[in-house]
Amino acid sequence: MSAQAAPSTCDLAIVGGGIVGLAVARELTRRRPDLSLCVLEREAQVGTHQTGHNSGVVHAGIYYTPGSLKARLCVQGARELYAYCAERGLPHERCGKVIVATDPSELGRLDELERRGQANQVAGLRRLDAEGIRELEPHAVGIAGLHSPATGIADFPAVARAYAQDVLDSGAAVVTACAVHGVQARPRAVVLEHARGATEAAHAIFCAGAWADRLAVLAGADPDPRIVPFRGAYLRLAPARRHLVRTLIYPVPDPSLPFLGVHLTKHIDGDVLIGPTALLAGARDAYELRRVRPRDLLDTLAWPGSWRMFARFWRTGLDELRHAALRAAFVRAAARYVPELTVADVEPAFAGVRAQAVARDGRLVDDFVFSSTDRALHVRNAPSPAATSSLAIARHVVDRAVESFGL
Ligand SMILES: Cc1cc2nc3c(=O)[nH]c(=O)nc-3n(C[C@H](O)[C@H](O)[C@H](O)COP(=O)(O)OP(=O)(O)OC[C@H]3O[C@@H](n4cnc5c(N)ncnc54)[C@H](O)[C@@H]3O)c2cc1C
Repeated sequence: MSAQAAPSTCDLAIVGGGIVGLAVARELTRRRPDLSLCVLEREAQVGTHQTGHNSGVVHAGIYYTPGSLKARLCVQGARELYAYCAERGLPHERCGKVIVATDPSELGRLDELERRGQANQVAGLRRLDAEGIRELEPHAVGIAGLHSPATGIADFPAVARAYAQDVLDSGAAVVTACAVHGVQARPRAVVLEHARGATEAAHAIFCAGAWADRLAVLAGADPDPRIVPFRGAYLRLAPARRHLVRTLIYPVPDPSLPFLGVHLTKHIDGDVLIGPTALLAGARDAYELRRVRPRDLLDTLAWPGSWRMFARFWRTGLDELRHAALRAAFVRAAARYVPELTVADVEPAFAGVRAQAVARDGRLVDDFVFSSTDRALHVRNAPSPAATSSLAIARHVVDRAVESFGL
């Protein structure tokens, strides 16, 4: 993909070339091929941030509150994503996943997951006993489980690149190395000031992931919710130990948190990942543990919601700190359901940074959030499973754009 020039004017500008922004751009080019459109991406490549640093799991829709946007858009989005990958020859595998309960105290929560999965119409969901878990995952141990054959894996950066290619093929522009730093709402346009000059767009859609709140505020939106970055580090199994995991093994998650717990997942490149941790990060791009950006840290600490969140989750925070600091503690968490796993079996892999919206009242915002300002729409919270759901999110956002921009 060669670098393109930023247009000085266009009908629609999409800010952010992650999987969500590119899916939105692609959907717009299909529905309204007559409009001029550009994607403005800060980095030199598309899909650099969350899209390029995650578990790579195509979620089936089990966890999410029935009726929520996550539930609806994940189930639809996964179906469409598999079809897209098949059509475009992109690597993917519907390998299935097992959620394992290891303690009787988790059985009520496993029941609730089964109920949610059924309500969300997740295909093929099935309860397992201890023997059933072993049949699917011979090295996993639990007292009960859930099998989701519709869960799988995909190469999300490759999907993002394919969306970008679709956008380019339609004649629209994907402009990289083009950080937007100013947003001016005018009566008949939005002016986006960026690293390559300025683009005057009739309308804009902001899909900026970890920087979503900043761009929304520049465009005149409420600062609530704020993005608080959580670093998620992974280990990988040494190649000789990959046989310990056939597909995807997940714990029963803590229902008060929007994270799914330390899981063992086959990755599309053959690795088996263990992770991620969930540690409050000092930067919105804290791929290295020590990276701290004063503005990011200040934004987290100056937000009243952060302190309310600390007060509520300090115990979980200490556990996460232990997992991040002590590899043995992290491995022990995963060894609860794969007991043969030892610290000698693992090596460090990569880290991602979750863009988690935190409300002023300290709530970790669970569902996807979309909002609007004059001539603009904003994707304010698109955490997991937004990569899985990207095509369905795009349809939802473009439906809103058609209505509110009068397209
Ligand atoms: C550790 C981890 C594990 C995850 N696991 C899964 C999983 O297994 N399955 C799943 O479905 N989802 C998973 N997710 C979630 C998924 O990765 C994200 O929901 C998804 O990638 C969000 O896409 P996005 O386009 O909104 O964000 P991003 O990919 O972060 O893209 C946002 C883009 O906006 C650009 N941008 C920001 N500010 C500006 C600016 N000022 N000007 C121009 N461009 C700008 C950024 O450079 C970036 O490219 C995981 C996430 C993490 C962090």
